[in-house]
Amino acid sequence: MIIQTAYRYRFYPTPAQAAQLAQSFGCGRWIYNWGLKERTDAFYNEGRRVYYKDLAARLKELKKAPETAWLSEVSSVVLQQSLRHLDTAFTKFFKKESDYPTFKSKRGSQSCTYMANAFTFHNEALTLAKQDAPLDIRWSRPLPKGAVPSSVTVTRTTGDKFYVSFQVEEDRIPLPTASWEVGIDLNVKEVVCSNGKRYAIPGKLKILEQRKRRYQRASRRKVAAAKVAMGLASNAKLLKGMRLPLSNNLKKAYRKVGRVSESIANVRKDWQQKLTTSIVRENQTIALESLYVRGMTASAKGSADKPGSNVKAKSGLNRSVLNAGFGEIARQLEYKAAWSGRSLVKIDRWYPSSKRCSCCGYVLKKLSLSTRHWLCPDCGQSHDRDENAAINILMAGKAILAGADGLRVHE
Ligand SMILES: [Zn+2]
Repeated sequence: MIIQTAYRYRFYPTPAQAAQLAQSFGCGRWIYNWGLKERTDAFYNEGRRVYYKDLAARLKELKKAPETAWLSEVSSVVLQQSLRHLDTAFTKFFKKESDYPTFKSKRGSQSCTYMANAFTFHNEALTLAKQDAPLDIRWSRPLPKGAVPSSVTVTRTTGDKFYVSFQVEEDRIPLPTASWEVGIDLNVKEVVCSNGKRYAIPGKLKILEQRKRRYQRASRRKVAAAKVAMGLASNAKLLKGMRLPLSNNLKKAYRKVGRVSESIANVRKDWQQKLTTSIVRENQTIALESLYVRGMTASAKGSADKPGSNVKAKSGLNRSVLNAGFGEIARQLEYKAAWSGRSLVKIDRWYPSSKRCSCCGYVLKKLSLSTRHWLCPDCGQSHDRDENAAINILMAGKAILAGADGLRVHE
């Protein structure tokens, strides 16, 4: 089966390359933010929709205008791709898969994309447009034989590391058929399978999160001190056009936050990749709930006229959901299942998987989030909350695969 996939490698730019990339990141970011403002303004002022082609057609005029002439110092492909990314962000928003696009910030990781007409690639030598020497790439694993990258994306992380990601087409051979099937449930600290296997969120993640919070507090203190030094109140809002002097200490503090954020992302990614690979390898059928992560992570506080209940417990839950990245786990299971010839089925999340006894089918009226174990009042079976839910999810998944519908239970 031919699939689109990405191979990512670390590279070490020369100072000149790093400077040229910084310029490309900056211009790409500026164009993205410009496009976002154009689209938002056109909608609010005139109720008009602006599309990729409208914005791309104006790149020429921007490059000619004296105040934005610096845009022509970077590859025009980078600018076009930036507008493409914006387009994708809007498409996702209109499909209700994500929130309204936001402005890109100078902090945070930076990236830009080059299509095949903006780079050359021969014998492992990748040279980007507007650069004259190939990048010094560490080939941690080979690209698939004969792979022709359709695009490359260069990223500078918040910890100041550089990566290049090659988009290639690859022919994957499906895995041999597995004889097991599994239902998957998620709680705040682990992924629970119907066969009793559990994948706990790495403990290291919590330690790193705490460290990150400490570093963030330190950088906030330094920002406050800088404001006081400027003669402002420590919590004053900076007016438009005002810039805080970026002291070396503040820069160092920001870099510390960046580096720990990066470790957190790496630990989480590693955990997700390993668990999704092992689940897909072992099971032919995989059933999970179609969690609507965005709904689950919405503010527990609610709004002024609709205050939320149980705020503290829920904000803890929200944080854990975010930490574990369950949306990402579901996404990985989905594509890995497709690559490996597995069937993956998603169950409507309103199906009462937690409250139903997987032995006799009895449905509890109520089951609070804090109840981890319960006894079925009808058949007397004792249940681990999550394992029971995972078994129900598998049963529902098999029923759907067998052609059942109408599993939706209205609340
Ligand atoms: Zn029962």
